[in-house]
Amino acid sequence: MKKIELFLTQLENFEVANFYKFKFDSFMPSSQNSILKELKKRNMNVNEIDKFTIPPKNYLETIDKDLVCPNCLSNKYYNTKEQDSVTFSYVTIDYNYDAKICLVCSYSKDKVDNKKVKKSLFSVLNFIKKRSGN
Ligand SMILES: [Zn+2]
Repeated sequence: MKKIELFLTQLENFEVANFYKFKFDSFMPSSQNSILKELKKRNMNVNEIDKFTIPPKNYLETIDKDLVCPNCLSNKYYNTKEQDSVTFSYVTIDYNYDAKICLVCSYSKDKVDNKKVKKSLFSVLNFIKKRSGN
């Protein structure tokens, strides 16, 4: 069994639907075939995929909202260390941050938050620059 097929069998119906919705286009044709095969096996029609992207009520009742993906509600997250940098007036500041990334839809709230961090870092540097008169 291919890695992607094994992964798909471990997903709930709504997760397979979201996986299709958010990531299908990013796969090579052979993997796309595996995804379509899995959808067919579960009697999910791609033309009505939105109908299947909503988790069942019993799942929604048991999840901890802080531990699921805010985008697709999957609990299949993985942790990664991300690196980023801010460059300003010939000075580059590198920094690391922890990011949780959703395996189903690739959404990462931490990456969204990082953009805000980056913006505030930039304004701090701008402030320092103005004060030092460079
Ligand atoms: Zn997600």
